[in-house]
Amino acid sequence: MATLTLKQLKKQYPNGYQALHGIDLEFGEGELIVIVGPSGCGKSTLLRTLAGLEDISEGDLEINGKRVNDLEPAERDIAMVFQNYALYPHMSVFDNMAYGLRNRRTPKDEIQHRVSEAAELLGLTELLDRRPKQLSGGQRQRVAMGRAIVRKPQVFLFDEPLSNLDAKLRVQMRLEIRRLQKRLKVTSVYVTHDQTEAMTLADRLVVMNGGHVEQFGTPMALYDRP
Ligand code: ADP
Ligand code: ADP
Repeated sequence: MATLTLKQLKKQYPNGYQALHGIDLEFGEGELIVIVGPSGCGKSTLLRTLAGLEDISEGDLEINGKRVNDLEPAERDIAMVFQNYALYPHMSVFDNMAYGLRNRRTPKDEIQHRVSEAAELLGLTELLDRRPKQLSGGQRQRVAMGRAIVRKPQVFLFDEPLSNLDAKLRVQMRLEIRRLQKRLKVTSVYVTHDQTEAMTLADRLVVMNGGHVEQFGTPMALYDRP
């Protein structure tokens, strides 16, 4: 579990465009935070900045009170789940989930243990020998989550993870994500442009517009506001 603190976080792209204008936010341990807002408002920029995939121009990012601005993505104890699954087509489900751990030279029996545990949580135990193309969309999305879970990170980042799924599966998977997040209690930041998805998932919502935070609060508090 971890707290995540953003202090006057600014992002200016090399072409001079200012995508984030001094973001101040604090997320509590085990919270599921959803970032919502119109296309171009800076959601992905914010998420990529948290992941360390974009440099921070000004301000600070802290995990558990420790400044992590200058840490590489792999050193941040953050795992990201993508919409395109980012699975390796030629590898089995097991190997896809084990990939990041093998890169980190995690001992073999530890990998076996973590992958089995994650597969159990995600209902993938029977599918560990399959290739991605032998899976349904929902199953592929679960494998993508499995890759993040096995790393046992302090923070999960979700970048519109369900936007490639059909409407029915989207509803089912977002309930699964919330159930899993509550069970693992990993502080999570989830980006979507889908209002309903945002309202159903979030402990607290960040509403962004034009690189600013417009509102921050529980879905109830924001919904009641005119
Ligand atoms: P969202 O995820 O909310 O759709 P983004 O974070 O992708 O928004 O983009 C925010 C703004 O920053 C947009 O105006 C976008 O055009 C701009 N932007 C994104 N990436 C770059 C980049 N590499 N260089 C310059 N501008 C960018
Ligand atoms: P894993 O396979 O578990 O994602 P990696 O060692 O491949 O681990 O990745 C290290 C870090 O870089 C992780 O935080 C991961 O989420 C991130 N990462 C990996 N691939 C990409 C990618 N294509 N785009 C953005 N981030 C990535």
